[in-house]
Amino acid sequence: MSSLKPVRGTRDILADDILRHRHVEETARAVASRYGYAEISTPIFEFTEVFARTLGDTSDIVTKEMYTFEDKGGDRITLRPEGTAGVARAFISEGLAQNLPLKFFYRGPMFRYERPQKGRLRQFHQIGVELLGVVRPLADVEVIALGAHILDALGLAGKVVCELNSLGDGESRDAYRARLVDYLKDHKDRLSADSRDRLERNPLRILDSKDETDREIVAGAPLMSDSLNDESRRFFDALLKGLETAGVPYRINPRLVRGLDYYCHTAFEFTTDALGAQGTVLAGGRYDGLIRQMGGPQTPGIGWAAGVERLAMLVEGAPKAARPLVVIPIGEEAEERAFAVTQGLRRAGFAVDLGFSGNLGKRMKRANALNARAAVILGGDEMARGAAAVRDMDSGEQAEVPLTVLEEHLGRFR
Ligand code: ATP
Ligand code: MG
Repeated sequence: MSSLKPVRGTRDILADDILRHRHVEETARAVASRYGYAEISTPIFEFTEVFARTLGDTSDIVTKEMYTFEDKGGDRITLRPEGTAGVARAFISEGLAQNLPLKFFYRGPMFRYERPQKGRLRQFHQIGVELLGVVRPLADVEVIALGAHILDALGLAGKVVCELNSLGDGESRDAYRARLVDYLKDHKDRLSADSRDRLERNPLRILDSKDETDREIVAGAPLMSDSLNDESRRFFDALLKGLETAGVPYRINPRLVRGLDYYCHTAFEFTTDALGAQGTVLAGGRYDGLIRQMGGPQTPGIGWAAGVERLAMLVEGAPKAARPLVVIPIGEEAEERAFAVTQGLRRAGFAVDLGFSGNLGKRMKRANALNARAAVILGGDEMARGAAAVRDMDSGEQAEVPLTVLEEHLGRFR
């Protein structure tokens, strides 16, 4: 029955996978909090406007990927495809403009109607940061350094490179757009239908096309860097110098553009060749025009988002589940007592499993399957003496321990 399968592009996250996800998110949150980024949780759905207006009506997300529906009250609602628009909306609707600069960290599920494949899902998870209210390139340095720090803390420093480009300010982009359109017009016949459509409306997007012929054509296009005005160039130089001072290695990629309309100046991606086609793990840029475009006060911003699934695939040696103790009653008379002992140990801070039924053999098997550190066996003889048998599951050694000192004795197995 198809309705009992998860929807294509969604999945259940279990066992080791969920531990890896949590490790990624908790590491990111801990590092971000050292940089003063406070966690924010915005709603998983917003009015469609919030995304349609900010992401631009020619972006892949808005044209093809949004999960949009009308709710019972007749409102147009979209499941969030990314985090920045929601944070910007919250900034405006919560009236936070008096508190600048602001630094946010977020995590959570995102939704995009995409063709599912390795590292590309319809419900996936992102961690991300946003820094609002700073026009100086030092903000860009901090945000990129924070991304690098998190990747480093996850043990990925050697597996990723930071690719970097400048998109310049509005004037530089206009100048570049004109040169780009001139060039692309000469190849118009060979461009994909999507790209031909974008030639007038948003030619920069074509640089980001995944169509193969488009990519060939784009490979010969003029470079953004040749169109940067003095101010944009100074901004970029300051960023590069800042990254060098901060010890963040980078590689300039003059072809790097970001898929969304609202970026200016800095664009960056941390990429890996360990994941095949879906090699971008963390991506971001500066979006000085976004908040005003949404109807808020002119407020510069910079941020990034990273895919938790992609990071989790790269992480090695993520923490294993803590090894529990098991309590094993022998015979029905011991069961109630076993539950009381189990609860006492749980309250004392131990992780304890108590099976609900089964003989000694079956329960020992489960203890092994749980990778238990020790078993507390409550049999008739020991119980009559007010004691339990404690077995070290690694060495196999067993000792009789009075219940009065059980917690103390088990301390060695924590
Ligand atoms: P791509 O070019 O791979 O489609 P994108 O530009 O759409 O990426 P962003 O919007 O920048 O991606 O999202 C930031 C990060 O979120 C990506 O670098 C990636 O790690 C992750 N991500 C984006 N879309 C997906 C998805 N459908 N499934 C899993 N992870 C994703
Ligand atoms: Mg995409």
